[in-house]
Amino acid sequence: MTLERPASDLKFLVVGGGIGGLTAALCLAQQGHEVHVFEQATEFVEAGAGIQLSPNCTRVLHWLGLEHALRTEAFIPEATQIRQWQTGKIIAETPLGPEAIARYGMPYYHIHRGDLLKVLVAAAAEHASITLSTSAIVGSFQQTQEGITLPVNDTVYYGDALIGADGIHSVVRASLWGEEKPRFTGNVAWRALVPVARLPPGLIKPMATVWWGPGKHFVHYYVRGGELVNCVCVTEKSGWEIESWTEPGHQEELQAEFSGWHPDIGQLIENVTPESLYKWALFDRAPMNRWGSGRVTLLGDACHPTLPFMSQGAAMAIEDAAALALCAENDIASGLRRYEDQRRDRTAGVQQGSRRNAKIFHLSGVSAWLRNRAAGIASKNAMDSLYRYNVLEAIK
Ligand code: FAD
Repeated sequence: MTLERPASDLKFLVVGGGIGGLTAALCLAQQGHEVHVFEQATEFVEAGAGIQLSPNCTRVLHWLGLEHALRTEAFIPEATQIRQWQTGKIIAETPLGPEAIARYGMPYYHIHRGDLLKVLVAAAAEHASITLSTSAIVGSFQQTQEGITLPVNDTVYYGDALIGADGIHSVVRASLWGEEKPRFTGNVAWRALVPVARLPPGLIKPMATVWWGPGKHFVHYYVRGGELVNCVCVTEKSGWEIESWTEPGHQEELQAEFSGWHPDIGQLIENVTPESLYKWALFDRAPMNRWGSGRVTLLGDACHPTLPFMSQGAAMAIEDAAALALCAENDIASGLRRYEDQRRDRTAGVQQGSRRNAKIFHLSGVSAWLRNRAAGIASKNAMDSLYRYNVLEAIK
């Protein structure tokens, strides 16, 4: 697909070198702009374990020329499957693999977050128009009619626009709209990796599997080309609200949380690599009416932090990145407002849908029985409006 280059090149300062910030840098550079990414960490690393990349965002990653790198690092699942927590009965199954390509024109990948970040950083490092800075903590910025000034580590940087891709605790967001704590959703998540070599052959199908149970759910899928199983386990819990992605979890606690569940879940928990087990409270925010102002805007979790119950948070950040690049124009403020207008409803829909799923996944009793019946007869095109969306063509 060929897209028009903008009339002139602009310089973008991007705060945050996560999945959203790095993809934005690549998209903006591809459109002919200069980009400087400021990441607070000492190196570009992703603490999280696995991530699912659906066709609506792999479309953008392929547009950036990353298909080969993704296919090398990722795992292509055959289907998604929903199972009953105790009996293991299959509630619903939706084919992916070649069917996803036939249906959506793009593949569905499972990938280790570290591997995805490695792919993005390698592509950005090769791009002459992208500068990457680590140990670069952004605290404040100023915008005038002429541009942006950004002091970082004793140097003042200048740009035409500033993009806050700095996650749920965004300092850019707080500078624009004031401090507002994200809300605890009443859910605590664990993540862990299991080496496949430790499991009985065939225990884990090549699918993204979600087990629905009362007040809890358990997700597992292959990453790193099928060497590891990534597990995300979510339970409703109050009184524990630590959000750090580096807070260790304990195997015994996880075992206790999922005692009585199907033996496959017991086997997975028994075989997790203890150092890969982390626990954190899940937070989100209500959709924002305004994202940016003047020469400044937000992207990804900075403006629409999303619960992981549709596997779409990073996908939305990746779509944002492409939309931003396609809207960038000489009149930067009007380009940024156009970007926000194109993205607000879609991302708000995903935020709200993910919240709804938090309730649906955890139903019990008759409500769970009715939910399972409905899921079993739901058509295979349930995800069409989400996965078919082509941000590269949708931007007006
Ligand atoms: P972040 O990943 O938070 O990156 C922000 C970056 O900014 C960080 O590198 C940070 O260090 C940096 N930063 C912050 N402040 C500053 C500062 N002041 N100065 C400089 N740098 C700064 N999404 C999917 O699409 N598919 C999935 O399968 C999926 N699974 C998930 C599973 C779980 C359990 C969770 C919790 C989330 C999941 N998500 C998934 C959501 C996804 O992880 C996030 O939406 C995505 O990582 C957001 O990317 P981001 O770049 O906007 O923010």
